[in-house]
Amino acid sequence: MHLEPHLAPRPANHPPLTPVEFLVRSVEVHGDREAVAWGDTTWTYRAFARMVDRFARFLRTAGIRAGDVVSVMAANRPEMLAAHYAVPMLGAVLNTINTRLDADAVGYILGHCESRILISDAECLAVASQAVPHGVALHVLSCPRGETSGGNALDLLAEDGIAPALDLGAIADEWQPLCVNYTSGTTGRPKGVVYTHRGAYLNAVGNVLALGLTTRSKYLWTLPMFHCNGWCHTWAVTAAGGLHVCIDRPDPALVFAATEAHGITHLACAPVVLYMLLNHPAREMRNPANRVRVATGGAAPTETLIEQLGALGFDLVHLYGLTESYGPATVCDLTEEERARPAAEIARALARQGMRHATASRARVVDAAGNDVPADGRTMGEIVLVGNTLMAGYHRDADATAQAFRDGVFHTGDLAVRHPDGNIEIRDRSKDIIISGGENISSLEVENVLHRHPAVLLAAVVAMPHDKWGETPVAFIELRKDVMVDETELRAFCRLHLAGYKTPSRFFFSEIPKTATGKIQKFALRERARSMEIR
Ligand code: ADP
Repeated sequence: MHLEPHLAPRPANHPPLTPVEFLVRSVEVHGDREAVAWGDTTWTYRAFARMVDRFARFLRTAGIRAGDVVSVMAANRPEMLAAHYAVPMLGAVLNTINTRLDADAVGYILGHCESRILISDAECLAVASQAVPHGVALHVLSCPRGETSGGNALDLLAEDGIAPALDLGAIADEWQPLCVNYTSGTTGRPKGVVYTHRGAYLNAVGNVLALGLTTRSKYLWTLPMFHCNGWCHTWAVTAAGGLHVCIDRPDPALVFAATEAHGITHLACAPVVLYMLLNHPAREMRNPANRVRVATGGAAPTETLIEQLGALGFDLVHLYGLTESYGPATVCDLTEEERARPAAEIARALARQGMRHATASRARVVDAAGNDVPADGRTMGEIVLVGNTLMAGYHRDADATAQAFRDGVFHTGDLAVRHPDGNIEIRDRSKDIIISGGENISSLEVENVLHRHPAVLLAAVVAMPHDKWGETPVAFIELRKDVMVDETELRAFCRLHLAGYKTPSRFFFSEIPKTATGKIQKFALRERARSMEIR
């Protein structure tokens, strides 16, 4: 049989793929359904669309046109979510800024992406006013009761009752820039990662499937929206017609209170936030019978952490990705039957980074020559990504872009093995691996062992220069409250579970420095270790 291709002509006017379309549809289909909750107030999809429209009208009046960059520095509040629709709807480019950065770093970002306008909330105003370059307008979002701290107040919360006009005419091409997101800088100067409408649309759809989002989903905003646009969940929850529940910060008391009050079904956060939740007395509020799907990523969750989460009624979904892959690229999840297995077995399975989600780029693990490593769970290679959900490039940095995409694949810099069942498991970042006497030591493997010790709250293992071995692993440890342990005990514990050369030579008990997104600053620890070199 011979099939005739192109039975129908490809429509010349097919609309570009854009995540803004998810809102247009949800207003049509779920107009009266609750879309956003914040404090005591809720907005239906229609009311939220009015907020988006008000935002877009304000930006137009402020002179923003297609291609301009609009920066926002604000907590997870409704206007921050609205920015994810209002800015791209104008064909402009959204630049969300980490609210914990200092004025220097914010000034660098604003200058580097040539932002036209900065919208800040009252909490970020002091840093924002210091950072804002000459000629860039600064506006301040009002507090819920219409108060602002003065200046160019912007009240988008007050209802105007005007029928929302969501006009997507300015989105001419799905490949046009949607956002510019600056990396958290764990590996140097932040780089401006450019997202396209198409990439974000696809990654959001993949996340709806990976998290199992539906109209019944109630998603708690524990992940900062400024980080990779909340892993594209800013758009995914809307695509599903679910409810966005906003809280200003992932304070454990607020998280547990909101989880119970709203009947939260989903939340997402980095493993450090999960440690905080587990170790906070407010966990008593939690009714574990109401299961919550908890997506975590950004760093490897330890098996100990995963094991303990079950008692909180949290079913973990493990995501892996980078700013450059619009957040989640792979997902590790278990079926209902698999979740009925013993806790330690579940934890072992979920500690792996998994396989690509439905619309994500292909994730390969390759050797130095670019060939796939055998799926034997032992041979390490670099994770490279190929596909539709990768950044357009680094803003104004052609060299870094070319380097990242060398040989036609995106290089993540993460070292992993592939298991016979296809799942990927990260062993380390290429820059974090420790090479001692010619042997590779995965800092994650050593950290995993340390996290099993009951006195250890947080452990980070880095290389320290060593005269004989080249490098040797050393551990930085944050202890749990009211427990004591010394170096001898921890060393003995490591020796029980690790080869001698993998056991840290030194243990330092101190607070571990973290980035503004809560990631451990290994480069800072490496510097510390270097200054204490063993001879
Ligand atoms: P930065 O590179 O500035 O820290 P990103 O948020 O883009 O900012 O970090 C991406 C990196 O985080 C990945 O390359 C990987 O090293 C690490 N990472 C992300 N998710 C996981 C995970 N689930 N397990 C282990 N490492 C992860």
